[in-house]
Amino acid sequence: MRSLITGGAGFIGSHLTEHLLGLGQEVVVLDDLSTGSEHNLAAVADHPGLSFHHGSVNDPEAVEAALQGVDAIYHLAAAVGVFTILDKTLHSLRTNLLGVETVLEAARRHQVPVLLASTSEIYGKNTTEGITEDDDRIVGSPLVNRWSYAEAKALDETYAHLYGVEYGVRSVIARLFNTVGPRQSGRYGMVVPRFVEQALAGEPLTVFGSGEQIRCFCHVLDVVPALVALMADESAYGTAYNIGSNEQISIAELAERVIKATGSTSSVVHVPYQEAYGPGFEDMERRVPDCGKAERTVGFRPQRTLDDIINDVTAERRLRRDSASAAV
Ligand code: UDP
Repeated sequence: MRSLITGGAGFIGSHLTEHLLGLGQEVVVLDDLSTGSEHNLAAVADHPGLSFHHGSVNDPEAVEAALQGVDAIYHLAAAVGVFTILDKTLHSLRTNLLGVETVLEAARRHQVPVLLASTSEIYGKNTTEGITEDDDRIVGSPLVNRWSYAEAKALDETYAHLYGVEYGVRSVIARLFNTVGPRQSGRYGMVVPRFVEQALAGEPLTVFGSGEQIRCFCHVLDVVPALVALMADESAYGTAYNIGSNEQISIAELAERVIKATGSTSSVVHVPYQEAYGPGFEDMERRVPDCGKAERTVGFRPQRTLDDIINDVTAERRLRRDSASAAV
């Protein structure tokens, strides 16, 4: 078995790469190293089953070259992180829209199945507790930049669906809810690595808005096997699955939890959304999945708690800080 992972040098992609190599598969990574990094693949860099292609999913030739001999495609490459989407909105929209068509076209030519990594963002402002795959989307104005990510990802899903209906391309959609863990960068806005880094540096933890917004954080090591199980199960094809945790926490509580777990003396500051993200930003008040469908289909059930996540991210960040200070 040989799998192509677009975005394989990214946070989730690199964990998926390691997991598939561990299962004895060959892995081809296609990554433009925009937000990903070869450093993420350091542990498997010399693995004989791994080949790395530096290129973009928007480049049909790069996709074609990476696809030789491949049996399955995990399409994870995307512009991610709220800061990225707001800083480079048009570029992100293009990456997230054009890449999927290039990949689906290639899948059609080579007749290989695709797992499309989608996102809980597509539900927008629907705050239903235990949101299911069939629930409606509630998104804001197309002129509010944040929603361009949700719109692009929703259209990606529609593309995958229509390539199935019209061309028989097999695909499965995984809607990921706040996936976190070691290697996730705080640079693009993700809250857990940002809070851990702030706590370790003794800086104030920046809670955006009231801090009452609710999220559920799922460990990347729980998410990755679910992606592989969905790809392996033909009965999953042609539909979408929520993948995430249902352990709820407010962002203000998360800040307190991180301070306690790291033993930090940091304080907490509240930063207005406008200051954090610019004018007109709209956040989601609550995002809590029902993952019953994935549980029934592939037995998905996260094993790791939020405390496990915070501890793993803290351990990794401490190690990085130690090696950075040893290098000075
Ligand atoms: N957030 C925060 N402080 C930060 C970064 C993020 O309070 O330094 C908030 C953000 O506004 C959102 C939540 O944490 O309400 C989760 O943000 P993230 O970007 O990790 O994921 P999202 O759920 O927004 O995709």
